[in-house]
Amino acid sequence: METHEADRIIREALDKVAPECPSPRIIYTRAYSYCGRACITPHGFQIKLSNAWKGATPEGKRQTLIHEAMHVADAFLHKGQWSGHGFMWQVLMRKVGARPDRCSNDPGALATANQALWHREVWVHCPCRSLRVSKRMRSSIAQNPGSKLCARCRKPLTANPEELAA
Ligand SMILES: [Zn+2]
Ligand SMILES: [Zn+2]
Repeated sequence: METHEADRIIREALDKVAPECPSPRIIYTRAYSYCGRACITPHGFQIKLSNAWKGATPEGKRQTLIHEAMHVADAFLHKGQWSGHGFMWQVLMRKVGARPDRCSNDPGALATANQALWHREVWVHCPCRSLRVSKRMRSSIAQNPGSKLCARCRKPLTANPEELAA
């Protein structure tokens, strides 16, 4: 989906509930942990669209855009006071004919994106074995040693073999 099409879907949703609301700026991120995220910045509203979003179905993409647009409308109509997935956001979602799911992030898209990540895997180690994990996982292990445990021996996974416990 092209940015102008995403912009159009967001604008159409906003026009139904908050025509005065300025269009948020679309920012692309490399995240895999969410599909979309609405933000308020000193320069105005932003909607972040992730790598997971890029892997979503057209309908999943559209749902995410509407979900995030309603966070923007919520913040605009309620003077920057975010209610998260609370009552006012749910009212807005219903007004645009969308289900007020807490998470309209496309689970299929997240799974596909995580799979793609898995295929760009790297080695990590524990006392009982070496195994393949995503680069993301490895860097999280490198940054927070001891944060992930081996499912088999319950000892911490380490990013480098030389960090192995004796
Ligand atoms: Zn949300
Ligand atoms: Zn182990």
